[in-house]
Amino acid sequence: MTTSEAMPDTPVEDVAVDEGAVDEAAGAGQATTSPLLSVRNLIKEFTLKSKAGDFGKRVLRAVDDVSFDLAPGQVLGLVGESGCGKSTTARCILRLIEPTSGEIVYKGEDLTAKSHKQMRELRKELQMVFQDPYSSLHPRRRIRHTIAEPMIVQGVNQKEALARVPELMRTVQLDPRRADAYPHEFSGGQRQRIGIARALSVDPEMLVLDEPLSALDVSVQADIINLLQGLQQEYRLAFVFISHNLSVVRYLAGQVGVMYLGQIVEIGDAEEVLARPAHPYTKALLSAAPVPDPEAERRKQQIVLGGEVPSALDPPSGCRFHPRCWLAQDICRVETPALIERGNGHPVACHFAAEAVTDKKSHLDLTASAGTSASAGTSVAAQD
Ligand code: SF4
Repeated sequence: MTTSEAMPDTPVEDVAVDEGAVDEAAGAGQATTSPLLSVRNLIKEFTLKSKAGDFGKRVLRAVDDVSFDLAPGQVLGLVGESGCGKSTTARCILRLIEPTSGEIVYKGEDLTAKSHKQMRELRKELQMVFQDPYSSLHPRRRIRHTIAEPMIVQGVNQKEALARVPELMRTVQLDPRRADAYPHEFSGGQRQRIGIARALSVDPEMLVLDEPLSALDVSVQADIINLLQGLQQEYRLAFVFISHNLSVVRYLAGQVGVMYLGQIVEIGDAEEVLARPAHPYTKALLSAAPVPDPEAERRKQQIVLGGEVPSALDPPSGCRFHPRCWLAQDICRVETPALIERGNGHPVACHFAAEAVTDKKSHLDLTASAGTSASAGTSVAAQD
């Protein structure tokens, strides 16, 4: 672990981004070794209680046939609107909730077949960072004990575990002299650093980060992005990074998967997907993402989606996006488009992917909006 001087969360304007490091991060996302994690046909259904007078069960399929691979040291960003199933996917991967069906293969072993005891042992390698850094910390436990807890659960002697806490605090740029403080004595950004230190304490290979920035003040988001990026590169960690914000994903991820109503509709190399989106929904998300260059931001044409967001309880027939899609044709209402490579270099679930790429009506100035990773990431925090 690295050491550094303790520092408080700094304003976003003060964040210096290492562009060389950014390039290295992007390269890490293109790892070609065999997958560390393979998710295949993952389905998660929730059975809802029937209302009075409503006969029969109502089943909500929050995650519907999701598949992806994650190589060691790679960052996969899963993006989509609230309720699209990305956080449920994250929880299923670590079996914090039980998948209904599908395979979650980690280092060649199917996690869905593991007992709770075996999963507890595996959590040494697979850790999670939660969205709300306050509710994920025990309010009456000193952070020294919070950070040491995963090590103790894994069988590390308590004295040794506690002795390692200062080093972990320095790694996430917290002052180790504050190890005896309680969570309420820290800011939101500092509490998220505590959550990250706790996750790192057992030297994991993979972190699942569920919207780790969304509960934070705008002024500290860039600090946490830079911290995560530095840790990911230094320890060659694999990330599944969940976010509703494409600009943040663009900054961290080598691969991106776009989710809509429980399904992945486009997935591939982040630079390629973000530079040449082939699904209308991806284009709409991108058009809503802030652009670092004010001039490009002014020129940008935002796609305003029509129609209501459909319910996952009763998803639309055919392509689920069709009620909101400006390219929809008759086939879209009856035939579900498969997530396959359609000549765009990456899989996309759209019957008219080629048309979506070249569609003039929704043409985006993607050269400008892609920007440099560094500036995009900083701007996200500043403008989100
Ligand atoms: Fe739009 Fe049809 Fe493509 Fe669905 S399949 S995204 S409705 S064009």
